[in-house]
Amino acid sequence: MQRLHARYPFLEAARDAVATEAVDLATVVEQDRAVVDRARERVVAALEDGEIDEQHREPRIELLSYPVARVLVSMVEERVLVRKYARAEAATAYDRFRADFEQTTELKSVESTGLDLETLLSEFDLQPVVRETTGGYRIDVGTYLPLAEDLWEDEWNLVNRALADGEVPVSEAELQTLLQEAVRSRIEEGLPFDVPDVIATALEDDAAVIREVLADLELTREIDTVVPDLFPPCMKALLDDIQKGEHLPHHSRFAITAFLSNIGMSTDEIVDLYRINSSFGEEMTRYQTDHIRGDSSPTEYSAPSCATMQSYGDCVNKDDLCDRIPHPMAYYEERIDDADDEEIDDWREGEDGESASGD
Ligand code: SF4
Repeated sequence: MQRLHARYPFLEAARDAVATEAVDLATVVEQDRAVVDRARERVVAALEDGEIDEQHREPRIELLSYPVARVLVSMVEERVLVRKYARAEAATAYDRFRADFEQTTELKSVESTGLDLETLLSEFDLQPVVRETTGGYRIDVGTYLPLAEDLWEDEWNLVNRALADGEVPVSEAELQTLLQEAVRSRIEEGLPFDVPDVIATALEDDAAVIREVLADLELTREIDTVVPDLFPPCMKALLDDIQKGEHLPHHSRFAITAFLSNIGMSTDEIVDLYRINSSFGEEMTRYQTDHIRGDSSPTEYSAPSCATMQSYGDCVNKDDLCDRIPHPMAYYEERIDDADDEEIDDWREGEDGESASGD
């Protein structure tokens, strides 16, 4: 079994290698504890660190742990896990292939066990549509668009690219980022899938560990992660209006209150935020907030979808990410997901600093 397959288990050849190992997954999960342990570690590391940690020293265990990790992700059946897992695997692949590319460039004459750019491009059928130029690469626009779909920074927007003859210019580093996206989307493809009972039963304890890690993480997020910088443009605008003391129509007030509540703010925090606005009596604000939160009503209300926001004229200042999400919560979730913990801590410290100096 090649080490390359263990290093890059998403490759077609690695899938074949798993098949030719002549193992059925049910036997592996029942009899090969080392594989299951490594699979669980993969998923937990993806959640906690955003990447997959060091490889197992035995390539066979490393390789087989990948399909088992996919089974575990499928069993937990949470969209956020699928996304975080695929991103972590892709981020790890990115670090590895960049290291391999450097090595293959430096040691051209030495037989390498790593991956080279041509091989990775052909893995994703990209060779015919990526052309090397003197300054970098050009990629066919039809291929570029889906690959750059989840890269929401302005630089990836087609309007900021010198599109010519149906090709988009990209630097070497940008091409590597697009390849990371290709890896991510392959890993995400087909997840979650139905897991046969016999396999699910054998893996139930491991899936429970992952659910716990996920729950801890979500709890932390729900309570702590209120980062106005990452709010969708519509909610930023409504929050600005409130803080300027403007009177908001009922539907707008409902939208921002439900959003703040959905991201985990308490009634007291929301009331504090609204207190700045003289047009909100505290009692009425508290009553409305409790009602929306479901504390004084049978229903916890959700923030309106983008379609509803649009129909009320509350959808403003749309950006690129807006074109790809159906709901302001999805926008926020994606921005929070993309921000790493350090960035979030920086924002929090900035906030603390501001409020400390403002006091
Ligand atoms: S598209 Fe959705 S998230 Fe973006 S501004 Fe409009 S309502 Fe808000």
